[in-house]
Amino acid sequence: MPNNSNNNNDDEYEKYCYLCRRPESQAGPFVTLPNNIHICNDCMQKSFDTINSSNMPFMDFSKMPNINMSQFMPFDDIPQSQKVKKKKKKEKTEEVPLTLENIPAPHKIKAMLDEYVIGQEYAKKAISVAVYNHYKRVITNSMDDIEIEKSNMLMLGPTGCGKTYLVKTIARLLNVPLAITDATTLTEAGYIGDDVESILSKLLAVADNDVEKAERGIVFIDEIDKIAKKKETHSRDVSGESVQQGLLKILEGSDVEVPVGSGSKNAMTPMTTMNTRNILFTCGGAFPEIESIIKARLNKQSSMGFNADLKDKYDNDTNLIKEVTTDDLRDFGMIPEFIGRLPVLFTLDALDKDMYIRILKEPKNAILKQYQKLLALDEVDLKFDDSAYEAIADLALQKKTGARALRAIIEKFMLDIMYEIPRDDSIGRVTITGDYINGKGAPVIELRGADL
Ligand code: ADP
Repeated sequence: MPNNSNNNNDDEYEKYCYLCRRPESQAGPFVTLPNNIHICNDCMQKSFDTINSSNMPFMDFSKMPNINMSQFMPFDDIPQSQKVKKKKKKEKTEEVPLTLENIPAPHKIKAMLDEYVIGQEYAKKAISVAVYNHYKRVITNSMDDIEIEKSNMLMLGPTGCGKTYLVKTIARLLNVPLAITDATTLTEAGYIGDDVESILSKLLAVADNDVEKAERGIVFIDEIDKIAKKKETHSRDVSGESVQQGLLKILEGSDVEVPVGSGSKNAMTPMTTMNTRNILFTCGGAFPEIESIIKARLNKQSSMGFNADLKDKYDNDTNLIKEVTTDDLRDFGMIPEFIGRLPVLFTLDALDKDMYIRILKEPKNAILKQYQKLLALDEVDLKFDDSAYEAIADLALQKKTGARALRAIIEKFMLDIMYEIPRDDSIGRVTITGDYINGKGAPVIELRGADL
Protein backbone atom coordinates (compact mmCIF):
# COMPACT_ATOMS: atom_id res chain seq x y z
CA MET A 1 0.00 0.00 0.00
CA PRO A 2 1.41 3.43 -0.80
CA ASN A 3 2.32 5.48 2.18
CA ASN A 4 0.00 8.48 2.11
CA SER A 5 0.81 9.66 5.57
CA ASN A 6 3.85 11.66 4.49
CA ASN A 7 2.81 15.16 5.43
CA ASN A 8 6.16 16.58 4.47
CA ASN A 9 5.56 16.30 0.80
CA ASP A 10 7.77 19.07 -0.58
CA ASP A 11 5.34 19.99 -3.33
CA GLU A 12 2.99 21.35 -0.73
CA TYR A 13 5.55 23.78 0.65
CA GLU A 14 6.69 27.07 -0.72
CA LYS A 15 10.30 27.79 -1.41
CA TYR A 16 11.96 30.56 0.58
CA CYS A 17 14.69 32.93 -0.51
CA TYR A 18 17.73 31.95 1.51
CA LEU A 19 18.79 35.56 1.91
CA CYS A 20 15.69 37.70 2.36
CA ARG A 21 13.40 34.91 3.66
CA ARG A 22 10.54 35.89 1.40
CA PRO A 23 8.43 33.09 -0.08
CA GLU A 24 8.33 32.49 -3.79
CA SER A 25 4.74 33.70 -4.00
CA GLN A 26 5.96 37.13 -2.91
CA ALA A 27 9.44 37.37 -4.31
CA GLY A 28 8.85 35.88 -7.76
CA PRO A 29 10.70 33.04 -9.45
CA PHE A 30 13.86 31.79 -7.69
CA VAL A 31 17.27 30.79 -8.87
CA THR A 32 17.97 27.35 -7.45
CA LEU A 33 21.48 26.57 -6.35
CA PRO A 34 22.79 23.16 -5.40
CA ASN A 35 21.74 21.75 -2.05
CA ASN A 36 18.26 23.10 -2.28
CA ILE A 37 19.24 26.72 -1.88
CA HIS A 38 16.88 29.20 -3.46
CA ILE A 39 17.68 32.85 -4.06
CA CYS A 40 15.19 35.38 -5.34
CA ASN A 41 16.02 37.55 -8.30
CA ASP A 42 16.25 40.69 -6.17
CA CYS A 43 18.84 39.22 -3.84
CA MET A 44 20.76 37.74 -6.75
CA GLN A 45 20.84 41.14 -8.40
CA LYS A 46 21.90 42.86 -5.19
CA SER A 47 24.75 40.38 -4.76
CA PHE A 48 25.97 40.98 -8.30
CA ASP A 49 25.69 44.74 -7.85
CA THR A 50 27.73 44.59 -4.67
CA ILE A 51 30.39 42.48 -6.33
CA ASN A 52 30.58 44.73 -9.37
CA SER A 53 30.70 47.97 -7.41
CA SER A 54 33.41 46.86 -5.01
CA ASN A 55 36.96 46.14 -5.97
CA MET A 56 37.09 42.79 -4.32
CA PRO A 57 38.72 40.36 -6.72
CA PHE A 58 38.37 37.59 -4.18
CA MET A 59 34.60 38.05 -4.50
CA ASP A 60 34.66 37.55 -8.23
CA PHE A 61 32.97 34.20 -8.61
CA SER A 62 34.11 33.92 -12.20
CA LYS A 63 37.68 33.58 -10.96
CA MET A 64 36.75 30.94 -8.47
CA PRO A 65 35.69 27.96 -10.50
CA ASN A 66 34.01 24.99 -8.92
CA ILE A 67 33.02 26.82 -5.81
CA ASN A 68 30.82 24.77 -3.58
CA MET A 69 28.64 27.10 -1.55
CA SER A 70 27.70 24.42 0.91
CA GLN A 71 31.25 24.43 2.22
CA PHE A 72 30.52 27.82 3.71
CA MET A 73 26.88 27.46 4.42
CA PRO A 74 25.95 24.35 6.31
CA PHE A 75 22.46 23.82 5.13
CA ASP A 76 21.57 20.50 3.74
CA ASP A 77 17.96 21.18 3.92
CA ILE A 78 15.85 24.06 5.09
CA PRO A 79 13.96 22.99 8.17
CA GLN A 80 10.29 22.26 7.64
CA SER A 81 9.36 24.83 10.28
CA GLN A 82 10.75 27.62 8.13
CA LYS A 83 8.64 26.71 5.17
CA VAL A 84 5.17 27.95 4.60
CA LYS A 85 2.58 25.72 3.14
CA LYS A 86 1.29 26.89 -0.22
CA LYS A 87 -2.24 28.10 -0.19
CA LYS A 88 -4.39 25.53 -1.88
CA LYS A 89 -5.96 26.87 -5.03
CA LYS A 90 -9.72 26.97 -4.69
CA GLU A 91 -11.29 24.31 -6.77
CA LYS A 92 -13.36 26.05 -9.35
CA THR A 93 -16.87 24.74 -9.46
CA GLU A 94 -18.40 24.68 -12.85
CA GLU A 95 -20.59 27.78 -12.98
CA VAL A 96 -23.65 27.67 -15.15
CA PRO A 97 -24.36 31.13 -16.54
CA LEU A 98 -27.93 32.38 -16.35
CA THR A 99 -29.75 32.04 -19.64
CA LEU A 100 -33.34 32.59 -20.71
CA GLU A 101 -33.84 28.84 -20.48
CA ASN A 102 -32.48 28.29 -16.99
CA ILE A 103 -33.47 31.45 -15.18
CA PRO A 104 -36.16 30.32 -12.74
CA ALA A 105 -39.62 31.84 -13.12
CA PRO A 106 -40.85 34.11 -10.29
CA HIS A 107 -42.97 31.38 -8.68
CA LYS A 108 -39.96 29.09 -8.60
CA ILE A 109 -37.74 31.80 -7.10
CA LYS A 110 -40.40 32.41 -4.46
CA ALA A 111 -40.70 28.70 -3.73
CA MET A 112 -36.94 28.58 -3.15
CA LEU A 113 -37.14 31.62 -0.88
CA ASP A 114 -40.00 29.97 1.05
CA GLU A 115 -37.60 27.28 2.19
CA TYR A 116 -35.49 29.83 4.04
CA VAL A 117 -37.47 33.01 4.67
CA ILE A 118 -40.52 32.82 6.89
CA GLY A 119 -43.53 35.06 6.24
CA GLN A 120 -42.87 38.27 4.27
CA GLU A 121 -45.08 36.91 1.49
CA TYR A 122 -45.46 40.21 -0.34
CA ALA A 123 -41.76 41.01 -0.18
CA LYS A 124 -40.84 37.55 -1.46
CA LYS A 125 -43.21 37.94 -4.37
CA ALA A 126 -41.99 41.43 -5.20
CA ILE A 127 -38.33 40.48 -5.06
CA SER A 128 -38.89 37.32 -7.15
CA VAL A 129 -40.54 39.30 -9.94
CA ALA A 130 -37.98 42.10 -9.78
CA VAL A 131 -35.04 39.71 -9.93
CA TYR A 132 -36.60 37.69 -12.73
CA ASN A 133 -37.22 40.81 -14.82
CA HIS A 134 -33.79 42.15 -14.07
CA TYR A 135 -31.95 39.07 -15.24
CA LYS A 136 -34.19 38.76 -18.27
CA ARG A 137 -33.16 42.28 -19.13
CA VAL A 138 -29.51 41.44 -18.56
CA ILE A 139 -29.64 38.28 -20.66
CA THR A 140 -31.51 39.76 -23.62
CA ASN A 141 -29.70 43.08 -23.34
CA SER A 142 -32.57 44.83 -25.06
CA MET A 143 -35.88 43.80 -26.48
CA ASP A 144 -36.68 45.25 -29.89
CA ASP A 145 -35.62 48.75 -28.98
CA ILE A 146 -37.94 48.70 -25.99
CA GLU A 147 -35.50 49.32 -23.20
CA ILE A 148 -36.56 47.43 -20.10
CA GLU A 149 -36.10 49.61 -17.05
CA LYS A 150 -33.82 48.55 -14.27
CA SER A 151 -35.61 46.96 -11.32
CA ASN A 152 -33.53 48.37 -8.49
CA MET A 153 -35.37 47.89 -5.19
CA LEU A 154 -36.06 49.77 -2.00
CA MET A 155 -37.20 47.73 1.01
CA LEU A 156 -38.65 49.20 4.16
CA GLY A 157 -38.97 47.20 7.31
CA PRO A 158 -37.92 47.10 10.95
CA THR A 159 -34.52 45.80 11.95
CA GLY A 160 -34.01 42.03 11.91
CA CYS A 161 -37.09 41.21 9.84
CA GLY A 162 -35.16 39.62 6.98
CA LYS A 163 -34.23 42.36 4.49
CA THR A 164 -30.58 41.38 4.20
CA TYR A 165 -31.42 37.71 4.52
CA LEU A 166 -33.82 37.91 1.57
CA VAL A 167 -31.17 39.41 -0.72
CA LYS A 168 -28.48 37.02 0.54
CA THR A 169 -30.74 34.05 -0.16
CA ILE A 170 -31.59 35.29 -3.65
CA ALA A 171 -27.92 35.83 -4.55
CA ARG A 172 -27.02 32.36 -3.29
CA LEU A 173 -29.85 30.69 -5.17
CA LEU A 174 -28.97 32.44 -8.42
CA ASN A 175 -25.26 32.05 -7.80
CA VAL A 176 -24.41 35.69 -8.48
CA PRO A 177 -21.92 37.77 -6.48
CA LEU A 178 -23.39 39.90 -3.70
CA ALA A 179 -21.83 42.86 -1.92
CA ILE A 180 -23.44 44.10 1.28
CA THR A 181 -22.59 47.55 2.48
CA ASP A 182 -23.76 50.04 5.02
CA ALA A 183 -24.84 53.47 3.86
CA THR A 184 -23.59 55.03 7.10
CA THR A 185 -19.98 54.38 6.08
CA LEU A 186 -20.34 56.37 2.85
CA THR A 187 -19.42 60.02 2.47
CA GLU A 188 -18.99 62.42 -0.38
CA ALA A 189 -15.74 61.89 -2.31
CA GLY A 190 -12.86 63.70 -0.67
CA TYR A 191 -14.18 63.44 2.89
CA ILE A 192 -13.26 60.91 5.58
CA GLY A 193 -15.24 57.74 4.91
CA ASP A 194 -15.80 55.53 1.90
CA ASP A 195 -16.56 56.88 -1.56
CA VAL A 196 -19.55 55.34 -3.28
CA GLU A 197 -17.15 53.51 -5.60
CA SER A 198 -16.04 51.41 -2.64
CA ILE A 199 -19.32 49.51 -3.00
CA LEU A 200 -18.26 48.40 -6.46
CA SER A 201 -14.78 47.49 -5.21
CA LYS A 202 -16.43 45.18 -2.71
CA LEU A 203 -18.53 43.56 -5.40
CA LEU A 204 -15.45 43.12 -7.56
CA ALA A 205 -13.61 41.46 -4.67
CA VAL A 206 -16.52 39.08 -4.03
CA ALA A 207 -16.44 38.19 -7.74
CA ASP A 208 -12.72 37.27 -7.46
CA ASN A 209 -11.81 40.44 -9.39
CA ASP A 210 -13.69 39.15 -12.41
CA VAL A 211 -15.16 42.37 -13.81
CA GLU A 212 -17.63 40.62 -16.09
CA LYS A 213 -19.01 38.54 -13.23
CA ALA A 214 -19.21 41.55 -10.92
CA GLU A 215 -21.11 43.49 -13.55
CA ARG A 216 -23.99 41.01 -13.19
CA GLY A 217 -23.96 40.98 -9.42
CA ILE A 218 -26.21 42.31 -6.71
CA VAL A 219 -25.44 45.13 -4.30
CA PHE A 220 -27.32 45.56 -1.04
CA ILE A 221 -27.03 48.92 0.68
CA ASP A 222 -28.34 48.71 4.22
CA GLU A 223 -29.40 51.57 6.49
CA ILE A 224 -30.30 53.68 3.50
CA ASP A 225 -32.53 55.86 5.70
CA LYS A 226 -29.37 57.18 7.38
CA ILE A 227 -28.41 59.11 4.24
CA ALA A 228 -31.61 61.12 4.25
CA LYS A 229 -31.16 64.82 3.72
CA LYS A 230 -30.24 66.38 7.06
CA LYS A 231 -32.77 68.90 8.20
CA GLU A 232 -31.70 72.26 9.55
CA THR A 233 -28.05 71.85 8.74
CA HIS A 234 -25.94 74.86 7.90
CA SER A 235 -22.88 72.93 6.84
CA ARG A 236 -22.38 70.76 3.79
CA ASP A 237 -24.35 67.51 4.14
CA VAL A 238 -21.45 65.19 3.19
CA SER A 239 -22.96 62.00 4.56
CA GLY A 240 -26.57 62.64 3.59
CA GLU A 241 -27.76 64.34 0.46
CA SER A 242 -24.30 64.32 -1.14
CA VAL A 243 -24.12 60.53 -0.81
CA GLN A 244 -27.53 60.20 -2.46
CA GLN A 245 -26.25 62.42 -5.27
CA GLY A 246 -23.11 60.31 -5.54
CA LEU A 247 -25.11 57.10 -5.74
CA LEU A 248 -27.28 58.37 -8.60
CA LYS A 249 -24.71 57.71 -11.27
CA ILE A 250 -23.96 54.15 -10.18
CA LEU A 251 -27.60 53.18 -9.61
CA GLU A 252 -28.69 53.96 -13.12
CA GLY A 253 -25.82 52.49 -15.06
CA SER A 254 -22.60 54.10 -16.07
CA ASP A 255 -18.92 53.42 -16.43
CA VAL A 256 -17.21 53.91 -13.10
CA GLU A 257 -13.51 53.88 -12.28
CA VAL A 258 -13.14 51.43 -9.42
CA PRO A 259 -10.10 50.76 -7.23
CA VAL A 260 -9.18 47.08 -7.32
CA GLY A 261 -8.66 45.32 -4.03
CA SER A 262 -9.17 48.30 -1.74
CA GLY A 263 -11.88 50.77 -0.96
CA SER A 264 -9.71 53.83 -1.22
CA LYS A 265 -8.17 55.46 -4.19
CA ASN A 266 -4.52 56.30 -4.00
CA ALA A 267 -1.63 56.37 -6.38
CA MET A 268 -0.70 52.76 -5.63
CA THR A 269 -4.14 51.23 -6.16
CA PRO A 270 -4.77 49.81 -9.60
CA MET A 271 -8.05 50.95 -11.13
CA THR A 272 -10.46 49.24 -13.46
CA THR A 273 -13.62 50.35 -15.21
CA MET A 274 -16.92 48.76 -14.27
CA ASN A 275 -20.23 49.28 -15.99
CA THR A 276 -23.10 49.30 -13.51
CA ARG A 277 -25.89 48.92 -16.04
CA ASN A 278 -26.54 45.28 -15.18
CA ILE A 279 -25.86 45.42 -11.47
CA LEU A 280 -29.02 45.04 -9.41
CA PHE A 281 -29.08 47.51 -6.54
CA THR A 282 -31.24 46.86 -3.52
CA CYS A 283 -31.49 49.28 -0.66
CA GLY A 284 -32.99 48.61 2.73
CA GLY A 285 -33.81 50.67 5.77
CA ALA A 286 -35.99 50.80 8.85
CA PHE A 287 -37.06 54.41 8.19
CA PRO A 288 -38.00 55.12 11.79
CA GLU A 289 -40.63 57.79 12.22
CA ILE A 290 -41.79 57.57 8.64
CA GLU A 291 -45.07 56.38 10.14
CA SER A 292 -45.74 59.85 11.49
CA ILE A 293 -45.24 61.29 7.99
CA ILE A 294 -47.62 58.67 6.56
CA LYS A 295 -50.12 59.32 9.35
CA ALA A 296 -50.02 63.07 8.80
CA ARG A 297 -50.66 62.59 5.08
CA LEU A 298 -53.51 60.14 5.62
CA ASN A 299 -55.08 62.32 8.28
CA LYS A 300 -54.90 65.30 5.96
CA GLN A 301 -56.60 63.33 3.19
CA SER A 302 -59.32 61.90 5.38
CA SER A 303 -60.16 65.14 7.16
CA MET A 304 -61.08 66.88 3.96
CA GLY A 305 -64.42 66.97 2.15
CA PHE A 306 -67.38 64.71 2.64
CA ASN A 307 -65.26 61.71 3.59
CA ALA A 308 -63.97 63.39 6.68
CA ASP A 309 -62.96 60.72 9.16
CA LEU A 310 -61.84 60.40 12.74
CA LYS A 311 -58.55 62.15 13.39
CA ASP A 312 -57.06 59.34 15.45
CA LYS A 313 -58.08 56.61 13.03
CA TYR A 314 -54.47 55.66 12.22
CA ASP A 315 -53.03 56.01 15.69
CA ASN A 316 -53.07 52.33 16.50
CA ASP A 317 -52.40 50.99 13.02
CA THR A 318 -49.24 48.90 13.35
CA ASN A 319 -49.01 48.21 9.65
CA LEU A 320 -49.10 51.83 8.59
CA ILE A 321 -45.73 51.51 6.90
CA LYS A 322 -47.44 49.50 4.15
CA GLU A 323 -49.13 52.71 3.01
CA VAL A 324 -45.83 54.38 2.23
CA THR A 325 -45.56 56.36 -1.01
CA THR A 326 -42.67 58.05 -2.76
CA ASP A 327 -43.98 61.38 -1.47
CA ASP A 328 -43.52 60.18 2.11
CA LEU A 329 -39.98 59.12 1.29
CA ARG A 330 -39.31 62.55 -0.14
CA ASP A 331 -40.66 64.17 3.01
CA PHE A 332 -38.39 61.85 5.00
CA GLY A 333 -35.37 63.29 3.20
CA MET A 334 -34.72 61.12 0.18
CA ILE A 335 -34.20 63.17 -2.97
CA PRO A 336 -36.64 62.52 -5.84
CA GLU A 337 -33.92 61.49 -8.32
CA PHE A 338 -32.72 58.87 -5.85
CA ILE A 339 -36.19 57.43 -5.22
CA GLY A 340 -36.79 57.44 -8.97
CA ARG A 341 -33.85 55.11 -9.49
CA LEU A 342 -35.30 52.53 -7.10
CA PRO A 343 -38.60 51.82 -8.85
CA VAL A 344 -39.50 48.62 -6.97
CA LEU A 345 -40.70 49.73 -3.54
CA PHE A 346 -42.05 47.34 -0.91
CA THR A 347 -42.28 46.82 2.81
CA LEU A 348 -41.60 43.91 5.14
CA ASP A 349 -43.69 43.05 8.18
CA ALA A 350 -42.50 43.33 11.74
CA LEU A 351 -42.07 39.82 13.15
CA ASP A 352 -44.59 38.60 15.70
CA LYS A 353 -44.39 35.71 18.15
CA ASP A 354 -45.78 33.13 15.73
CA MET A 355 -43.24 34.12 13.11
CA TYR A 356 -40.41 33.80 15.62
CA ILE A 357 -41.55 30.28 16.46
CA ARG A 358 -41.75 29.40 12.78
CA ILE A 359 -38.26 30.86 12.22
CA LEU A 360 -37.01 28.56 14.97
CA LYS A 361 -38.62 25.50 13.48
CA GLU A 362 -39.08 25.74 9.74
CA PRO A 363 -36.21 27.17 7.63
CA LYS A 364 -34.06 24.60 5.91
CA ASN A 365 -31.01 25.78 7.85
CA ALA A 366 -32.83 26.79 11.06
CA ILE A 367 -30.35 27.32 13.87
CA LEU A 368 -31.96 24.69 16.12
CA LYS A 369 -31.70 22.16 13.30
CA GLN A 370 -28.00 22.94 13.12
CA TYR A 371 -27.57 22.14 16.82
CA GLN A 372 -29.63 18.97 16.42
CA LYS A 373 -27.34 17.88 13.62
CA LEU A 374 -24.22 18.59 15.68
CA LEU A 375 -25.48 16.54 18.62
CA ALA A 376 -26.74 13.78 16.34
CA LEU A 377 -23.10 13.24 15.40
CA ASP A 378 -22.58 12.32 19.07
CA GLU A 379 -25.70 10.15 18.80
CA VAL A 380 -27.64 12.41 21.10
CA ASP A 381 -31.20 13.34 20.26
CA LEU A 382 -31.89 17.05 20.93
CA LYS A 383 -35.53 17.99 21.40
CA PHE A 384 -37.38 21.22 22.16
CA ASP A 385 -40.81 21.14 23.70
CA ASP A 386 -43.44 23.70 22.80
CA SER A 387 -42.87 25.72 25.95
CA ALA A 388 -39.23 26.14 24.94
CA TYR A 389 -40.16 27.62 21.56
CA GLU A 390 -42.60 29.99 23.28
CA ALA A 391 -40.03 31.07 25.85
CA ILE A 392 -37.35 31.78 23.23
CA ALA A 393 -39.84 33.76 21.12
CA ASP A 394 -40.94 35.79 24.17
CA LEU A 395 -37.36 36.67 25.03
CA ALA A 396 -36.68 37.66 21.42
CA LEU A 397 -39.75 39.90 21.35
CA GLN A 398 -38.50 41.77 24.40
CA LYS A 399 -35.15 42.50 22.78
CA LYS A 400 -36.75 44.33 19.84
CA THR A 401 -33.91 43.50 17.48
CA GLY A 402 -35.92 41.16 15.30
CA ALA A 403 -34.90 37.62 14.49
CA ARG A 404 -31.28 38.52 15.15
CA ALA A 405 -32.09 38.16 18.85
CA LEU A 406 -32.97 34.49 18.40
CA ARG A 407 -29.44 33.44 17.64
CA ALA A 408 -28.05 35.32 20.64
CA ILE A 409 -30.58 33.73 23.00
CA ILE A 410 -30.07 30.22 21.66
CA GLU A 411 -26.30 30.44 21.68
CA LYS A 412 -26.37 31.49 25.31
CA PHE A 413 -28.31 28.51 26.61
CA MET A 414 -26.86 25.99 24.16
CA LEU A 415 -23.32 26.69 25.34
CA ASP A 416 -23.79 24.63 28.53
CA ILE A 417 -25.50 21.82 26.65
CA MET A 418 -22.80 21.64 23.99
CA TYR A 419 -20.14 21.67 26.72
CA GLU A 420 -21.63 19.12 29.08
CA ILE A 421 -23.32 16.53 26.86
CA PRO A 422 -20.30 15.16 24.97
CA ARG A 423 -18.55 14.38 28.26
CA ASP A 424 -21.17 11.78 29.24
CA ASP A 425 -21.56 8.86 26.84
CA SER A 426 -24.64 7.54 28.56
CA ILE A 427 -26.86 10.46 27.57
CA GLY A 428 -29.22 9.58 24.74
CA ARG A 429 -31.69 12.45 24.66
CA VAL A 430 -31.87 16.04 25.88
CA THR A 431 -35.14 17.92 25.96
CA ILE A 432 -35.04 21.71 26.30
CA THR A 433 -38.01 23.13 28.16
CA GLY A 434 -39.40 26.62 28.69
CA ASP A 435 -38.33 26.46 32.33
CA TYR A 436 -34.74 25.83 31.32
CA ILE A 437 -34.80 28.82 28.96
CA ASN A 438 -36.19 31.02 31.72
CA GLY A 439 -33.57 29.82 34.17
CA LYS A 440 -36.05 27.93 36.37
CA GLY A 441 -34.88 24.38 35.80
CA ALA A 442 -32.59 21.99 34.03
CA PRO A 443 -33.06 20.31 30.67
CA VAL A 444 -34.63 16.84 30.76
CA ILE A 445 -31.90 14.27 30.29
CA GLU A 446 -32.69 10.71 29.27
CA LEU A 447 -30.06 8.02 29.34
CA ARG A 448 -29.47 5.58 26.55
CA GLY A 449 -31.77 2.66 27.03
CA ALA A 450 -33.70 0.12 25.12
CA ASP A 451 -36.26 2.64 23.92
CA LEU A 452 -33.74 5.26 22.77
P1 ADP B 1 -32.45 43.11 8.53
O1 ADP B 1 -33.91 43.20 8.17
O2 ADP B 1 -32.12 44.06 9.66
O3 ADP B 1 -31.57 43.21 7.36
P2 ADP B 1 -31.54 40.40 8.63
O4 ADP B 1 -32.06 40.01 7.30
O5 ADP B 1 -30.08 40.63 8.72
O6 ADP B 1 -32.29 41.68 9.18
O7 ADP B 1 -31.98 39.30 9.71
C1 ADP B 1 -31.13 38.82 10.72
C2 ADP B 1 -31.20 37.30 10.80
O8 ADP B 1 -32.47 36.92 11.27
C3 ADP B 1 -31.04 36.61 9.45
O9 ADP B 1 -29.71 36.26 9.25
C4 ADP B 1 -31.92 35.39 9.57
O10 ADP B 1 -31.21 34.32 10.11
C5 ADP B 1 -32.97 35.80 10.56
N1 ADP B 1 -34.24 36.19 9.93
C6 ADP B 1 -34.76 37.44 9.89
N2 ADP B 1 -35.95 37.44 9.31
C7 ADP B 1 -36.21 36.17 8.95
C8 ADP B 1 -37.32 35.53 8.29
N3 ADP B 1 -38.38 36.22 7.89
N4 ADP B 1 -37.25 34.20 8.11
C9 ADP B 1 -36.18 33.48 8.52
N5 ADP B 1 -35.12 34.02 9.16
C10 ADP B 1 -35.12 35.35 9.36
